[in-house]
Amino acid sequence: MNQIGSVTELTQILEDLRKYVEYQRALGLEYLVPRTKKVDVKNAAIKEDEMRTKQPVKTTIDASPQLNIFDSASKKQTLEEIKEEIGDCTRCKLNEGRTNIVFGEGNPKARLVFVGEGPGRDEDIQGQPFVGRAGQLLTKIITAMGLKRSDVYICNVVKCRPPGNRTPEQDEIATCRQFLFKQLRAINPAVVVCLGSVAAQSVLNTKAKLGELRGNFHTYGHARLMVTYHPAALLRNPGFKKPLWEDMQLVMKELGISKSGD
Ligand code: URA
Repeated sequence: MNQIGSVTELTQILEDLRKYVEYQRALGLEYLVPRTKKVDVKNAAIKEDEMRTKQPVKTTIDASPQLNIFDSASKKQTLEEIKEEIGDCTRCKLNEGRTNIVFGEGNPKARLVFVGEGPGRDEDIQGQPFVGRAGQLLTKIITAMGLKRSDVYICNVVKCRPPGNRTPEQDEIATCRQFLFKQLRAINPAVVVCLGSVAAQSVLNTKAKLGELRGNFHTYGHARLMVTYHPAALLRNPGFKKPLWEDMQLVMKELGISKSGD
């Protein structure tokens, strides 16, 4: 490679790095964790190679640096404060048909957070996420992972039920998504699992399809993010059970959970 070529490449790498750091900052990353362990220089390359084959991280998604999710300089809110901020929300048209705002529930210090699309009929009535048929399947998945619902945190991209369970519209997602990001910032989990393409696309700010996004970890602030099928899709297509379970096994490995469950 000639010198001009390498300078252009280096400029591009620095620009990509700048965009990446800006995006992570927009997601709430406030600091970088320095290495505390001495690096075993002799074996480092081998270990890195092993990690790469074990946990390939996709980097091709559109991690939009323009996404101004929230002011990362602002104070981190608690879940109670976020709930209070949402209040009796009328920010978007979904408020017109809702019975209850479904804020989310579970361990406020969970290491694992599941994110769905939006409440359905049962969730709207009960004010709790994932309590209908798809929710019962999610509970089974959590149990198969060796966890309880109370160990994890469960929430949605939009907090009010879309009429007739339709897909939330872009303006509704754009209005409500900030509260999900604040919840994730408050909980600070190690792993986020996005259930279905709406959750995945909303959180990762991408138009990429579920098939392109699932199977590998993405990065979300300090957390690793796994995209998998929505449990409702499993109810319609039991063939998705195996790939979903493979995704959950990667999550379990990341969390250091050894229960095999299948
Ligand atoms: N589907 C979702 O995406 N979320 C729920 O809470 C229930 C069903």
